Amino acid sequence: MTETLPPCPECASEFTYQVDALLICPECGHEWSPGAEAEGEAVVRDAVGNVLSDGDTVTVIKDLKVKGSSSVVKVGTKVRGIRLVEGDHDIDCKIPGIGPMGLKSQFVKQVSD
Ligand SMILES: [Zn+2]
Repeated sequence: MTETLPPCPECASEFTYQVDALLICPECGHEWSPGAEAEGEAVVRDAVGNVLSDGDTVTVIKDLKVKGSSSVVKVGTKVRGIRLVEGDHDIDCKIPGIGPMGLKSQFVKQVSD
C-alpha cells in the first residue's frame, strides 16, 4: 500500500500512521477508521427507510423480472436471511423457488420473521 494517508481530522497533522484498519495521529493521539470517516457507515435501507442488516427477512414490494430467465419474483415474496453486499444490487439472497440472486434494497421491505 503506497497511498498517502489523510491528515488527522482533529489537528490536521500529516504524521498519521496506520495500524490495521485504524489511522492514528501521533500528535494528538486521535484514532479513527478512514473508511468510516470518508463515507460514513455504509447503511442499506429498504423501500420505507428501515435499516437492513445481514440475516434480515424482507418481502419484495414489486414484481421483479429475473435477469436471463422468464421467472418473475412476485410481489410479497418473502426472502429470509439476506446478505448485504456492495453494488447496484445491494442484497444477496436466495429466493424460494428461484435460487440465488441479487435484489435492490429499494424494492424490498423489512418484515419480522
Ligand atoms: Zn491529531
